[in-house]
Amino acid sequence: MDAALLTVGNELLSGDTENTNATWLASELSARGVAVKRILVVPDESDVITGFVRSFSDSFDAVIVTGGLGQTPDDVTMESVARGFEQPLEPNELARTDIERTVAEFERHRPNLDIDVDIESEAALPAGARALINEPGLSPGCVIENVYVLPGIPEEMRAMFESIAAEFSGTIRRRTLYTTDPESMLIETLTDARDRFDVSIGCYPDNHAGHNRLQLTGTDDNELDSAVAWLRERVTIDTDRE
Ligand code: ATP
Repeated sequence: MDAALLTVGNELLSGDTENTNATWLASELSARGVAVKRILVVPDESDVITGFVRSFSDSFDAVIVTGGLGQTPDDVTMESVARGFEQPLEPNELARTDIERTVAEFERHRPNLDIDVDIESEAALPAGARALINEPGLSPGCVIENVYVLPGIPEEMRAMFESIAAEFSGTIRRRTLYTTDPESMLIETLTDARDRFDVSIGCYPDNHAGHNRLQLTGTDDNELDSAVAWLRERVTIDTDRE
């Protein structure tokens, strides 16, 4: 299975908010063996979102979109996704029930605060979509075809992803080695390893820790183990890490 992440928000593009949703989702998907092929940040602009939803949906097994739900004027994600599949937005019964529960709970805890939630529009999802309940928050997410729409608020996004995590799995396996050899000394060994084994190898220097992280990726556990054993005999292992 491969996947693409589409993170929506002007605040991400300006650098005001760090894109922790993308990092967290990429690491969760990778841990499940899914190959993450794209991570893209787009502004709160409907045409741009619609265009990438369409093209990512055609190109990858799964697409996860985060951010831009809710009812403020900059929240255009749900209508843009609906347009991508040429579907209208229509009230969803499950989403409505969950929103009513959240609003009732909020009013119980904050009786003096008059919150004005337009439940009908909050509960509007693309026709034919499966609703995803927002346990810690208000705005529901949804799944339409192979596109998963999740909230931007990291806590809400994580809780919603946990509820669908079982739908993501793949065959990508990884191994990690740490070596104190400088990169210039590794070139020949890594080229040789890449030619001998059916694995890809990334070399990621960490000057602060004083080592290079070697990340091996492949689909065959035996091949990965053989490559690791071969490398361990040829590079200086950082014993502080192992
Ligand atoms: P709401 O329903 O409250 O409007 P939302 O799902 O529409 O939430 P946004 O309005 O896009 O989400 O963002 C809500 C908060 O989450 C903001 O503080 C925003 O900066 C943060 N946020 C959005 N996207 C990300 C992201 N990719 N990584 C980290 N934080 C994010």
